Amino acid sequence: MDELKKKPSRETLCVQAGWNPKKGEPRVLPIYQSTTFRYETSEQMARLFDLEDEGFFYTRLQNPTNEAVAAKITALEGGVAGMLTSSGQAAAFYAIFNICSAGDHFVSSSTIYGGTFNLFAVTLKKLGIEVTFVNPDADEAELAAAFRPNTKAVFAETISNPGLNVLDIEKFARVAHAQGVPLIVDNTFATPINCRPFEWGADIVMHSTTKYMDGHATSVGGALVDSGNFDWEAYGDKFPGLTRPDDSYHGLTYTRSFGKKAYITKATVQLMRDLGSIQSPQNAFLLNLGLETLHLRMPRHCENAQRVAEFLEGRPEAAWVNYCGLKSSPYYELGQKYLPNGSCGVVTFGLKGGRDVAIRFMDSLKLAAIVTHVADARTCVLHPASHTHRQLSDEQLVAAGVAPDLIRFSVGIENAEDIVADIEQALAEANI
Ligand SMILES: *Cc1c(COP(=O)(O)O)cnc(C)c1O
Repeated sequence: MDELKKKPSRETLCVQAGWNPKKGEPRVLPIYQSTTFRYETSEQMARLFDLEDEGFFYTRLQNPTNEAVAAKITALEGGVAGMLTSSGQAAAFYAIFNICSAGDHFVSSSTIYGGTFNLFAVTLKKLGIEVTFVNPDADEAELAAAFRPNTKAVFAETISNPGLNVLDIEKFARVAHAQGVPLIVDNTFATPINCRPFEWGADIVMHSTTKYMDGHATSVGGALVDSGNFDWEAYGDKFPGLTRPDDSYHGLTYTRSFGKKAYITKATVQLMRDLGSIQSPQNAFLLNLGLETLHLRMPRHCENAQRVAEFLEGRPEAAWVNYCGLKSSPYYELGQKYLPNGSCGVVTFGLKGGRDVAIRFMDSLKLAAIVTHVADARTCVLHPASHTHRQLSDEQLVAAGVAPDLIRFSVGIENAEDIVADIEQALAEANI
């Protein structure tokens, strides 16, 4: 995209950001299927290894296809630097591990994706990093009480999976900043089409690009984006990894050498170098195709989900329906503030009769498929108590914010009336 006079809108960024071909170059972002890149002198290569020049040399650190797609996501979020990772899990790990090491602590919303919950509560604990989970709806004083002198970050999801609560981003940002730590937001379900957390004070955004960004259920991937707004140097003692010399690069200091790009540069040249969770350029290419239509798909997901939620709310078989686009939702007001154009395509509900009825209903669906996945073009459905959370007792499920009868219905971009008709016939089959 050549320089435009007007700042390009999200729609234009979805289609064109990140790849700017010059005369005679491919119009479409190519897949740079090469592990390595050639240089003419040994000195040129040495300067890259010392981070004195920018350039590609080995795909584990950087690859032109991945760079272009990371740049598109960064532009969509309104950040200053971004990177792709092999999965959303890797992005969450890097987001925390880039600024926390053994002996550190961070605060996280308790209503987060199950995989992230495990990463934080079990795996990071083994590395000596502790987490305190907080109720995201708690007031600021209660949230502040979870902090310790060694707290280094706050983490939460814009729209939680599968609880679907909407985060009060400004409240979380205020509490984090009062304590001198950054707010990291998982923006997977909202996508930058429906919410840009940086505009509300978040400092770092992560994504499972596996979901709406890819949108077609072809490629597992993740992304990390920095707003460039957090002043690491102001709290230099808290973040020595960014503000003190790195021995593995001849004593270079990230904040001094890279300014606003310090966080992403460190995550790339240190974490990616050592841990290697790269996205394959093939997957990045497919992700880019998904991103080219994200601005068209998200409104359709939201429109269809609103129709499904309203239909279910009017049915006597439904025990409850949760979607922040419904006036009955406790998150309706926050949704109107942070997600005025729609939230996402995922609706959760319970049927009268509980677990057994839920299973009969799901087995009777024809258009909606039973899959672990969520947030793709095809309507799909999951019963967490029978699938992702099946090891938990009913009491444990409630504590995890997953009601035993909760059905997670991920509304696709098919015809809304076809989806509703499928639900209607499955309700009849389930004989509630
Ligand atoms: C799926 C998901 C993840 C994990 O992403 P993967 O790409 O499956 O590793 C993280 N956060 C949220 C909100 C998710 O839905």
